[in-house]
Amino acid sequence: MNIAAAMSDIADQPRTGAAPRILVVEDEASLSLLLSYNLEAEGYLVQRVDRGDEVEVLLAESLPDLIILDWMLPGVSGLEICRRLRARESTRDLPIIMLTARGEEAERVRGLSVGADDYVVKPFSLPELMARVRSLLRRSRPERLANRLKCGDIVLDRETRRVKRGERELHLGPTEFRLLETLMEKPGRVFSRAQLLDSVWGLSAEIDERTVDVHVGRLRKAMVRARERDPIRTVRGAGYSFDETFGRD
Ligand code: CA
Repeated sequence: MNIAAAMSDIADQPRTGAAPRILVVEDEASLSLLLSYNLEAEGYLVQRVDRGDEVEVLLAESLPDLIILDWMLPGVSGLEICRRLRARESTRDLPIIMLTARGEEAERVRGLSVGADDYVVKPFSLPELMARVRSLLRRSRPERLANRLKCGDIVLDRETRRVKRGERELHLGPTEFRLLETLMEKPGRVFSRAQLLDSVWGLSAEIDERTVDVHVGRLRKAMVRARERDPIRTVRGAGYSFDETFGRD
């Protein structure tokens, strides 16, 4: 696969947080195609590469939510890739499912010892692999699988892109929506302005950090009426967070 094309694909992907992203590393073209077809049918965003030595270039640009990694690959083996990813802070917890051929079964222990989360022996059944993918994503990033985020009387629906407070529909711009989505994914966590810029506007955005304050202001205005409680905390010198105690009183 053409690296430049693959990288621009990743850059073009919307940062909605709605669909988990899966990188398929497999040199058998027909299997790679079959996997991506089936993963896309389940709503995942799929990237494919067919060489082991292209993986690190791709990951330097952007991290997926899960990697399906073939063992035998041209360039660098799946085993070696796994070892390298686990050795690095930024990819230490990246979920990895390794694919091994039948003859390599004795090697599976080695796969797990270098840190793969799961392994599947070829030929495998697609429903089984899909189930493993779902279960691994659920374990690693539960907030990425929920279509609806709910805190107190605020409900954010990622599929319809609507937000309601009680019975009232909130009219949010796309930036305010993404901002609220980011905060609601991790109630209680304090996000710095730089982290919010990265998550909401994208890594490449060159935007003044005060822009974040402007959009938080708009979000509050749309969300909070007269005597209603404001679920967003301003943490002085640190940033913003969605109050994890909101709706518990
Ligand atoms: Ca292979």
